[in-house]
Amino acid sequence: MTTSKKKKVPYTVSNIKRCRCPQCLVQADSECVKKKYSGLKNEFESLGRVAALEPQKVPGIYCSTGIATCKDLNFNRQCICYTCPVWDSYELENSKTIIYFCNKGEA
Ligand code: SF4
Ligand code: SF4
Repeated sequence: MTTSKKKKVPYTVSNIKRCRCPQCLVQADSECVKKKYSGLKNEFESLGRVAALEPQKVPGIYCSTGIATCKDLNFNRQCICYTCPVWDSYELENSKTIIYFCNKGEA
């Protein structure tokens, strides 16, 4: 397999929907993340029609977009990326970073 400059995990609506970060305890108590989710509520409802949500508005899919913009996450808690269908689909166990993408950067 050759190395590609393309993102390993594409930033797509379908991957955003499958991301498990919303269930993760690392960001469960983050006020910053809560604010982003409430702002997103309306946008999510029309996701089918929205071509692209700005990555900085989405507190998840960090395997694609890299380090979280929210700075109040608790990295002493367990990352659950390995339970995620996106993680499986793109075989992120073979990536340079395999978990805690919100802290370590994209896959
Ligand atoms: S692997 Fe982790 S960061 Fe990537 S979509 Fe799944 S839960 Fe989100
Ligand atoms: S990347 Fe991992 S640690 Fe960070 S919020 Fe998503 S599941 Fe949790």
